[in-house]
This record gives sequence, structure tokens and C-alpha cells, in this order.
Amino acid sequence: MSDGIDPNSTQRALSSVVQKIATAARSVGRSPSDVELIAVTKTFAATKILPALEAGHRVFGENRVQESLHKWPELKEQFSNLELHLIGPLQTNKVRDAVELFDSIQTVDRMKLARKLADEMTARDKHLKLFIQINTGSEPQKTGVLPAEADDFIASCRRDFEFDITGLMCIPPFEEEALPHFSLLKDIAERNGICGLSMGMSSDYEVAVRAGATHVRVGSAIFGARG
Ligand SMILES: *Cc1c(COP(=O)(O)O)cnc(C)c1O
Repeated sequence: MSDGIDPNSTQRALSSVVQKIATAARSVGRSPSDVELIAVTKTFAATKILPALEAGHRVFGENRVQESLHKWPELKEQFSNLELHLIGPLQTNKVRDAVELFDSIQTVDRMKLARKLADEMTARDKHLKLFIQINTGSEPQKTGVLPAEADDFIASCRRDFEFDITGLMCIPPFEEEALPHFSLLKDIAERNGICGLSMGMSSDYEVAVRAGATHVRVGSAIFGARG
């Protein structure tokens, strides 16, 4: 136990999160299978991720391309059917690597990035799941499309790049109650005919599931505190 990793504790935490998602879903008449749990592994080494993989979990999220390139190619060789989501900001000079490694990009938020993604996906004939990130709190320092610009941005992505948009994603302001942000995201999705909602993290994923999340992104509740 010199590295401080107890595989059983990760597996227990994972199954507890899975159960809480199921309970939250059923409480509002939803099916637990309609909610995808993205286990967020940023900052955690492969040794820490292995217990989740060995327990059969296959859907993971990372926020940095560079860090992901260091750990996931090897894990992808060991475990089949992995689904990797990029949940952090994407620079256009990393798009090629991102399209190669990831199955889903959750942070599409500007036309230049959308264009680059479209080009790269076409060149490789690899079509990723795409989420548009909405800055629901209109926070100046944060990435994501402003709510007031969301409808136009979505329409442009569909028109210019023929994107089949899987969903919308948001990260509510840290200091605010999350529910109004989840509701806003849902409103924008519904009026644009988008089904996916990536919302909810360790502190509020049950709230998010009750509010309609189809994808929750949970890190510390499964893997423990980040260093
Ligand atoms: C880190 C991160 C998460 C997970 O956060 P936890 O609080 O550890 O569950 C979810 N979404 C994004 C975009 C993140 O960067």
C-alpha cells in the first residue's frame, strides 16, 4: 500500500456513485440507463484508474490533451471499448491529437475550433461525439458560448459543418447554486432540438440527474481528492 492506492475503495466509491445516479434517475421517473457516468481521471495516474477499468467501467473524462496522451494510449491497448471524453478547453493546435485519441469533445465553443474539428474529422473519417459548452453564468474569465449567443452558434455549426450535435455541456459558477444553470442548459438544448445534457460533477451530480442530465462528469467522488 506504499502508493496509497486501495483498489477496493475506488471500486466501492464507483459503485456508490452508480447507485446514487440510479436512485436520482428513478426518483424523477427516468431510467438509470439514460445517464452516462463519465469518470473524470484528470491528474490521476494509470495505477489509480485501473481499479475502475477492472470493475468494468469504460467511460472516462480528461481535461488536457497532453496529459491524456501520456496515459490513455497504453490503457486503450489493454482495455477495449473505452469511451474517452475531452472535458477541458481545446486549443486548435491540439485538435489533431484530440481527434486521434478522444471519442467525444465536450468543449466546442468557437467557430475556429469547430472548423478545425470538422476538417480533422473529415480527413480521418472519424466522427466524434460533439458537445457545445455553454457559459451559463456568463462569466468573463470562463470558456464556453454565452447563452445569448448559443442559438446562433448551434445553427452555424449545423449549417457550416453539418455537425450532429450530441449535447450541451456546462460548468456552473463555483459559488452559485447549480440548479438554475442546469435548467438554463436544458432550455437551450430543448429549443434547439438537442438531446444530450452534460452537467453535474461530484458535488451536484444527483441534482443534475434529477434536472435531466444525460452525462455526469464525476472525479473526486470516485478517485478521491486531487493533489
Ligand atoms: C474536474 C472536472 C470535473 C470533475 O470534477 P469533480 O468535482 O472532481 O467531480 C467535471 N467537469 C469538468 C469540466 C472538470 O474539469
